[in-house]
Amino acid sequence: MIIRWVCNNCNRKWIYPIGKCIYCKKNVEEVISRKLKVIGITKVNVPSVLHPITPYNVLILEDEHSNRIPKKTIKDYKIGDYYEENPAAKDPSVSIVKIKYDLDIAVDEALRLINDLKVNETSRILIKPNMMAVAYPYLGVTTNPKTVSAVIKYLIKKGAKKENIVIVGQSVYGPVEDALKKTGIGPLCKNFGIKFIDIAESEFIEKEFEGLKIKVMKEIFDKDLIINIPVLKTHLVFGISAAFENMFRLVAPDDILKMERLEKESEIDLNDAIAKLHKILPKYVTISDGSIGMEGNGPLNGTPSFLKYILASKDPVAHDAVFQELGLFLRKPKYLEIAHKLGLGENNIENIEVVGNEIKAVAREIKPAIGSKLTKGV
Ligand SMILES: [Zn+2]
Repeated sequence: MIIRWVCNNCNRKWIYPIGKCIYCKKNVEEVISRKLKVIGITKVNVPSVLHPITPYNVLILEDEHSNRIPKKTIKDYKIGDYYEENPAAKDPSVSIVKIKYDLDIAVDEALRLINDLKVNETSRILIKPNMMAVAYPYLGVTTNPKTVSAVIKYLIKKGAKKENIVIVGQSVYGPVEDALKKTGIGPLCKNFGIKFIDIAESEFIEKEFEGLKIKVMKEIFDKDLIINIPVLKTHLVFGISAAFENMFRLVAPDDILKMERLEKESEIDLNDAIAKLHKILPKYVTISDGSIGMEGNGPLNGTPSFLKYILASKDPVAHDAVFQELGLFLRKPKYLEIAHKLGLGENNIENIEVVGNEIKAVAREIKPAIGSKLTKGV
């Protein structure tokens, strides 16, 4: 995809979003081209930190207006071939979109590639970002509010009413009022006029699946659409913090504490519990935030990772399996195997349609959490 912001009055264009022409002050038009021709190819055989998998190709793509962009691919092309990024033809699918222009465009594109979300003016929608701590968004601990904002704008464009949207969150480290303020989720709700519900103070309903007795937020069971917006991170217990881990916070806080204590005493296995919890939860869509992300000792004490991509999927197992591949973690998170066996989704990467960018073109090593089962050589 090539986008240019064009002033038809002055015949000038910009390669980044711009509200009005800086010369004549007229509105600019967003021109999107999707059918691009390969006009140049460079094969790279030397690996580097951000591009560890070789050989890869850097294509020069040109659209019908003679705009050009470089594009990294593993697949070989010939000069004159067309390059297209089409929506998934089958399920399960996961889209990988690099953040190139802005987050609004990246989120729209990630959802287009998984065949969009069906919403209308009556759809009741619940959004679950990660708001686990009192932390600024640039640390990568919590979901970037700009990614949440992009999802809300998408929903409204597709016909949803903001009165029917609710954002829910639970702060595990620090008071919820402080977390709302510092993460930017509070001001975001206020700006859009969207209701926020503190999960910890909400009504719960007790559910059970194969020995797992758990209190889950009641609100999630009467929605038409649930959107999970995790921040992509490493995690000491699960290896990765992605779709599954973020939904864990829909559970009552005393149950979370109890389960974490039982894990330490080896009474239960949290990987098993998080998979079983997904047999209780309704289906959801994941749009994950890799605008910053975290590596090292996540989910709290790692460092920002600057992944610069958005992933989207209607299958949380496939989603987390793709993130695991993108981070070049050596071992798969245990919960993915359990979840796959429970029929919750696909964890074999060969059976997942990846759309947008290729995994191998985006993958680079993400430093794992020490002690996590994904640590290299353990
Ligand atoms: Zn102009």
